[in-house]
Amino acid sequence: MSIRHANTPSPEPPANDQPGAEAHSDAPLAAGLRIQTFGCRLNFYESEVMRRHAEAAGLDDALIINTCAVTSEAQRQAEQAIRRAHRQAPERPIIVTGCAAQIAPERFAGMPQVARVLGNEEKLTAEAWGASDDQARVQVNDIMQATSLAPQLIDGFDQQTRAFIQVQQGCDHRCTFCIIPYGRGNARSVPMGDVIEQVRRLVENGTKEVVLTGVDITSYGPDLPGAPSLGQLVRRLLAAVPELPRLRLSSIDSIEIDQHLLHVLANEPRFMPHLHLSLQAGNDLILKRMKRRHLRADALRVCRQIRALRPDVVFGADLIAGFPTETEEQFQDSLALIEDCGLIYLHVFPYSEREGTPAARMPQVAKPLRKERAARLRAAGDAALAAFSQSQIGSRCTALTEQGGVARSPQFLPLALPGFAAGQLVEVEVQTNAAAAPGNAAPSLAGQPLSAAVLS
Ligand code: SF4
Repeated sequence: MSIRHANTPSPEPPANDQPGAEAHSDAPLAAGLRIQTFGCRLNFYESEVMRRHAEAAGLDDALIINTCAVTSEAQRQAEQAIRRAHRQAPERPIIVTGCAAQIAPERFAGMPQVARVLGNEEKLTAEAWGASDDQARVQVNDIMQATSLAPQLIDGFDQQTRAFIQVQQGCDHRCTFCIIPYGRGNARSVPMGDVIEQVRRLVENGTKEVVLTGVDITSYGPDLPGAPSLGQLVRRLLAAVPELPRLRLSSIDSIEIDQHLLHVLANEPRFMPHLHLSLQAGNDLILKRMKRRHLRADALRVCRQIRALRPDVVFGADLIAGFPTETEEQFQDSLALIEDCGLIYLHVFPYSEREGTPAARMPQVAKPLRKERAARLRAAGDAALAAFSQSQIGSRCTALTEQGGVARSPQFLPLALPGFAAGQLVEVEVQTNAAAAPGNAAPSLAGQPLSAAVLS
């Protein structure tokens, strides 16, 4: 799982392209049904599902805060958002959902500003959103008892370029720094037929790009008849929906990539050449203390193997800086991984202890040193991304437009491309963006349309 945090700089779509209401922000909230989403793509997908249930139940003036528990900071920000929202609109009911609500419901139930607390299973049921008078204020069941995953078919994400769809939930691993399994339960998969139906419906409604998401998507399938792998799901999906122009995956565990996925990577142009790897560190002893399933040599081997099959592929990765006991020498192994694996998109986290996890009981690295190491990783990642961006100048590709005059290349590079509505595929030549300057948010690259014609 990518332990991404809402405000971590990353190649994720910008907030205005996030599905499911708005990402967490400090701006005063407009009236009506609002959803503030923290955390990962799965949470954004689920926010879209909740919005449909809430609207169908006639909930037209409420604030839903869909929390994240990946760091104590994420939980603190959710509590801060609750207090702020209540000060802004004391009469509006606040409903708290998500992993922080699942793991510590009493904490939110104890806040007078909170009207209701819903667990991660409950939040996705229509029943939970029925008239609140006869609903329990706190509805949070034991997530570890969840054994199946009901598909939540949606038609699309409002004016969104890409759609995140859930194919998997929960995790059977127990990495020593991670609290997620206690918020999401054990691994379970959406049946292939439902995933295909979901994608077909999205494509019929104009979606050009789908991102398969979950908690640990490479563990897709063992709970389904025939135990299909993630690669088999992807192959079947692309065959069953030939109209789908572009497919991406959310973060994957490199050591669990199967032969079918490698086959698709090598042979399917609609499978985007951009993989985000949950690597976490570059030193074997630290990886062992994290209880990860791979070693440094595995990460290098997998990246080399994939690049040989798909030379235009780019890699992103999650890296934790300052994991307990990490020495400067061990940190250097993580730093060197950027060049050795050819990583260009980094999600970097200064280690944050989570109460109840084994790593929180290990000898800790001083917080300032964690932050300093995280800054060095980010700087190296930015340099790698800048070098890759430079190497793309003069190349040609099909870019997918988003809101705000930006488009994305197959490698997910942002390209300035004004004058096109969101959700269009345009053939472009990659050029330097003259409007880009230090300090402005303009992408460093621009797309020069090769013809007036929009591909689709
Ligand atoms: S336990 Fe490990 S694999 Fe599972 S969600 Fe957490 S970090 Fe990911």
